[in-house]
Amino acid sequence: MFKLLKEVLRTGEATVKYPFAPVEVAKDFRGKPEHVPENCIACAACTVACPANALGMQTDLSAGTRIWSIDYGRCVFCGRCEEVCPTDAIRLSTDFELAVADKADLRRTAVFRLASCVCCGKPFAPEKEVAYVAELLEATAPTKADAERRRQLVATCPACKRANDVVQIDTADVARTMETVR
Ligand code: SF4
Ligand code: SF4
Repeated sequence: MFKLLKEVLRTGEATVKYPFAPVEVAKDFRGKPEHVPENCIACAACTVACPANALGMQTDLSAGTRIWSIDYGRCVFCGRCEEVCPTDAIRLSTDFELAVADKADLRRTAVFRLASCVCCGKPFAPEKEVAYVAELLEATAPTKADAERRRQLVATCPACKRANDVVQIDTADVARTMETVR
C-alpha cells in the first residue's frame, strides 16, 4: 500500500483535462493534412502517392476544370502527400479533431482551370502546372529561341505532340528516301 502511494506521488497527475483544456501533441505529430490551393499546381502527384485513396482528381473537359479533393474520412495520416508535393501545397498539421456531424463535411475540394493546347485549342492540363513546368524548363534553356520552343512544347497537348512527331518522322522518312533515290 505504501509502495503504491509512493508511486502515485512520484508519477503525479497522469490524466489530462482534454477536452476541457487543449492537449499538447508531439512535435512530429501527424494530424490533418492541410491543403493550400494557392500553392497547389494540381499536378496530381499526391493523389497517385496516397495509399488510402483519400485524395482524388477529377477532370471536367466541358467546364475546362480539374477538381482536387481530399476525404478526411479515408486519410491514414501517413504523410506521403506531403513528401511528394513539389510546391509545399499540402502539409500535415497537428490538428486531430476531425469529428463532424455530416460525413460529407469530411470532404474538401479545390478547383483549377485547365490550359488550352496552343495547337488544337482543347483543354488538356491545369494552367498552373503548365506554367510551373514551363518556368522550370525556360530557366535552363541555353538561348531565348530554346526557351520559346520549350514553352510551346509544354503548352501543347499530348495528342498534338504525337501528331507533330508523326509528321516529323514522316518528313524524315521522305528525306531519307529522297537521299537513297539520289
Ligand atoms: S496523409 Fe496519407 S492517407 Fe492522408 S491524404 Fe496524405 S497520402 Fe493520403
Ligand atoms: S502534389 Fe501538391 S501541387 Fe500536386 S496536386 Fe498535390 S497538393 Fe497540389
